[in-house]
Amino acid sequence: MSKPHAFDHSPYIIRPEPIVRLKDLATTPPSDFTSKGEAKKALAEDVSALSEAQRILWADGRFSVLIIFQAMDAAGKDGTIRHVMSGVNPQGCEVYSFGPPSAEELKHHFLWRPTRYLPARGRIGIFNRSYYEEVLVVRVHPELLKPQNLPPGREGDELWTKRFEDINAFEQTLHRAGTCVIKFFLHVSKDEQRRRFLERLDDPNKHWKFSAADLRERQHWKEYRGAYEAMLAATSTHWAPWHIIPADDKWYMRAMVADIVAARIGELDLRYPELDDAARAELAAAKERLLAEDGG
Ligand code: AMP
Ligand code: MG
Repeated sequence: MSKPHAFDHSPYIIRPEPIVRLKDLATTPPSDFTSKGEAKKALAEDVSALSEAQRILWADGRFSVLIIFQAMDAAGKDGTIRHVMSGVNPQGCEVYSFGPPSAEELKHHFLWRPTRYLPARGRIGIFNRSYYEEVLVVRVHPELLKPQNLPPGREGDELWTKRFEDINAFEQTLHRAGTCVIKFFLHVSKDEQRRRFLERLDDPNKHWKFSAADLRERQHWKEYRGAYEAMLAATSTHWAPWHIIPADDKWYMRAMVADIVAARIGELDLRYPELDDAARAELAAAKERLLAEDGG
């Protein structure tokens, strides 16, 4: 996949086990990025690269791709998914959105739910939010643990550390099975969230996007930040690193996400299957028969 543009991804990849301080990480593009046009052009190039990559992923049939999006409300998860995947064949891709767990899901381990929606070999799966909510919203609102009916001795601070370990092991299993796990935290500032909420309130076409719950969660900004920092530091691994993408500029964010996804898929050893001699002979015979038909 050769491309005329080249973004530097390195500032956004979280190396395993650092201390993550979100306050120190950019929510805006670097100062040398000025042009929305440039981002749109780069996005378009990556969208077509992704479309081609998906065809090979499908034909190759040995790998799958799981893309995870986490963010505070109004960071632009939905728009990013829509744009980045716009060139991808819907038959080879599915998006699953994680809301509050169902009664049935609550009766299982928290990694039971995502297991059911994992992409099969050859396919791309997208999680709009994910099992990470179990160490984010549930950590900020520990009363959500109650209906989970955990056995005794599974509460307190230890619980989150154990969940991080379980998540890392889960993702390592996926990686070993041929799933490329690509994780994005879309990093929006509190000011930009406020601006976007106000926009939703001012534009009748965006009213549906606003929920009072979003405003309630905004009151817990600091607790979420703490939960995100702990999670990002504990679950950025060699096999499934986090990317923290500045989200205050939507076009920059979308272009960067598309570029990283295209690059990660490009690193897989994908190829169209090669036919053996017998299969090749079969094709030659088929062609001969069809040509003979044409003549007769
Ligand atoms: P949205 O992404 O705006 O559709 O909202 C989905 C809501 O579901 C968010 O408020 C999440 O925090 C919530 N949610 C997702 N997963 C869980 C979970 N495991 N437990 C509780 N709430 C969750
Ligand atoms: Mg929402």
